[in-house]
Amino acid sequence: MIRVSSLRKKYGDITAVKDVSFDIEKGRVYGLLGPNGAGKSTVMNIMTGVLDAEGEVNVDGIDLFDDPRAAKAKIGYLPEVPPVYGELTAVEYLTFIAHAKGLRGERAESAVAEAMERTGLSEVGGRVIRNLSKGYTQRVGIAGAIIGEPEYVILDEPTVGLDPIQIREIRELIRDLADEHTVILSSHILAEVQLLCDELIVINRGRIAASGTKEEVVRALGGERRIELTVRGGVSTDDFRDIAGITSVSVDGRGTHNHFTFTVAERDVREEIALRVTKRGGVIRELYMHEPTLEDIFVRIITSEEENDGNI
Ligand code: ADP
Ligand code: MG
Repeated sequence: MIRVSSLRKKYGDITAVKDVSFDIEKGRVYGLLGPNGAGKSTVMNIMTGVLDAEGEVNVDGIDLFDDPRAAKAKIGYLPEVPPVYGELTAVEYLTFIAHAKGLRGERAESAVAEAMERTGLSEVGGRVIRNLSKGYTQRVGIAGAIIGEPEYVILDEPTVGLDPIQIREIRELIRDLADEHTVILSSHILAEVQLLCDELIVINRGRIAASGTKEEVVRALGGERRIELTVRGGVSTDDFRDIAGITSVSVDGRGTHNHFTFTVAERDVREEIALRVTKRGGVIRELYMHEPTLEDIFVRIITSEEENDGNI
């Protein structure tokens, strides 16, 4: 498990990360989701020992700041801008990485071969990295991250800047990696995180806005369920007030029809609403429940951020 506690990072006057804490459990795929500038890369750079910060990062019982060498051995990292040396071939670069991770001789050779095989690079090992497509360059970076079989593989915006075919291939590769590693990836693309991740950590303006499964995040961020009802005749808001689970009700008259909007807690109270309407002699024209989506919530986070920026 990686336990990140109370991280805080300042760049000059800007506090990029403010009190960030979360746990990474082995065997799951985590998505660090947030708009540009949210602090994702900063958090990842801290977790991987690239950047110093206040707070604590504990990797399987090892304190990263006390014993960075031991903690970092458990982590493979693909930074946002990978330091891939363009003039080297893929094999040369990956051998260099293997040496940097303390592997020598045949062990280095077989680690490189295996990482290349797993990332689909075997055919292009002898090519100079500068001449590879962006998708393949990204594979080289990912191969570098998995050399030495780290338990945790951290990928910062792994699909950014790729074309749609490359994006699909890299996502497939990430899925394969997840069979053997605990994967933590960052993205500003909601769909990507939804597709690839079991657990979300939503970060906004340097803070965790919510974390957990998709459903937990929707709930935690106050995405509320709404029931919409259109009725002809007979009912007023008072007729629904005592139904348990309704948190608010409002009405909007439209000629002979009234449109009610209910916000509701956990319970699905559509049937109770329908019974009340019928009892009062009203006729239901429409009754449906709107489940909040992660998309609704993510858009709201970004929008509120833009509004805040507008005030500065
Ligand atoms: P994300 O990866 O989510 O886009 P970052 O972690 O890169 O966010 O950045 C978080 C905040 O910190 C942003 O406001 C960014 O401008 C600022 N920032 C990042 N790196 C630096 C740096 N080296 N110097 C100054 N400010 C930085
Ligand atoms: Mg970033």
